Formats: sequence, C-alpha cells, structure tokens
Amino acid sequence: MPPGSGWPGDQADGRTPVAHSPDDVLRLAAAAAAAATTQSEALGRLNARVSVCRACPRLVAWREQVAVEKRRSFADEAYWGRPIPGWGDDAPRVLVVGLAPAAHGGNRTGRIFTGDRSGDWLFAALHRAGLASQATSTYADDGQRLHATHMLAAVRCAPPDNAPTPAERDTCAPWLDAELALVLPDVRVAVALGGFAWQSLLAAMNRAGLTVPRPRPTFGHAVELLLDDLLLIGCFHPSQQNTFTGRLTEAMLDAVFARVVSHAGPFTPTL
Ligand code: SF4
Repeated sequence: MPPGSGWPGDQADGRTPVAHSPDDVLRLAAAAAAAATTQSEALGRLNARVSVCRACPRLVAWREQVAVEKRRSFADEAYWGRPIPGWGDDAPRVLVVGLAPAAHGGNRTGRIFTGDRSGDWLFAALHRAGLASQATSTYADDGQRLHATHMLAAVRCAPPDNAPTPAERDTCAPWLDAELALVLPDVRVAVALGGFAWQSLLAAMNRAGLTVPRPRPTFGHAVELLLDDLLLIGCFHPSQQNTFTGRLTEAMLDAVFARVVSHAGPFTPTL
C-alpha cells in the first residue's frame, strides 16, 4: 500500500524519508522527533518513518510477496504490506511488546496484533482488563482504542516463519529505541509477549539507561523484574501454538493483566 494513499491511520506520505540501510535507520530514527512540539507529533513522525522503512531486503521482499499473493480467505482485501508502527496511547502507563507482525495479520491490516488469532486472544484479555475498548481487533478503522496502553513489536516487518535474524533485529532496534525514548517516561509496567520480546526489551531498556541485571534474567510466564521503577512482566505469546495446546489459557492471560492494572495505578477503564 503506497504511503499517503488513504489507508486508515497511515501517517506517511510521499515526502516521508525512507531508510534503505541500517545507517539510514539509525539516522532517521534519531532525528524523527527533532522538530516536533508535542508527544503525539513526535510519535506521528516516527511512525511515518517506520512505516516506509526498507532497510532489511529479506523482510521487505517477504512482506510485499505476502501482500501480493495473499491468503485465499483474504483474496479480495488489500494488504498493508509495510512495517507496522507502534500504536495506542501516546503517554501510556502500560507497554505491550510482541515479536513481529503476522504475515496475514498486522501485515494485512496495518495494525499490530490486528486480524489474527493471537490478536483475538490478546485484545479479548485487554478488554476484560479495561485496557481496550473492544474485545476484538479486526481492521485498522474498526473503532478499537487502547486505554493507558501502547503496543508495539520489537521487529516491525513480518518475517518468514515468524523468525527475524539477529541482524534484522539489530537493524530495527533504533526504531524501538526511538519509540521507547518517547513513551518510557510514562510507562509503569511493560509486558513482554514471548522470549524474543523479553530479550529485545531488556536490551533496549539497557540502552535507554535503565538498570538491567547481569546476567539478564531468563524469560518465563509471569516472571517479574523491577527495572528501576518500571515493572517488566513476562507472558507467553498468545500464538496458536500456545493457546491450542493449553500452554497459555485465558485465566493465565487475565492474571497477567490483572497484575498489570494493579501496578499501573488507578485509571478510568475505556468504554
Ligand atoms: S524490520 Fe525494521 S529495520 Fe527492517 S525493514 Fe522492517 S522496519 Fe525496517
């Protein structure tokens, strides 16, 4: 989907600078918020740059191939086929971090955890906890809103087999760092969905100057770690591999988000 062609929530247009290399990502991520006067404007500029990035040749080829070939059940739909920016509250108390967009989920709808089975589980749990206005998240213009919560993926493009390479993870890291620089001052609790997100977040928070223990603690479900005054909680990823097998249940997700809400402090749930 070309930038500026009317996709709901698309913050880029034909003038948005495009990263073609890891050095470009570093430079454009660092400068994204430079001239912004508000947090929303800074995040909007960053999101625009993320959403047109072409720095990882393998992932660019894959996301665009999937968007052209499509899954048969979505054959009549246009696919986003671009990187997925962070989304949600611009001054969040809660951060939810996943691995990367799904080929026929976020890569199709343009919003993280939207339009796939993992998102069905996650948004239902967020809604039960009062952190999302609706129990489902199906497309970018569906009226869904997050409350006090910001959501992002450690790697912004859908990877083959849900497995970015270490080099792709590292190339994408400056986008993560730039986003955390904007939102972390307000965040009280972060949820890492799966081991990849856990390790990526610990590395990013270390780069952000938070005190991260060494050796880095191992990921586990409901494992908690206090990083200065920010609470990091591990949670099994709501992938079908975990939910079909009962490794992750609704009760387990609800317990994590109950802990999140209690630590995030009082707020008025989204209606
Ligand atoms: S994974 Fe990240 S760095 Fe690589 S092309 Fe996508 S947005 Fe750019």
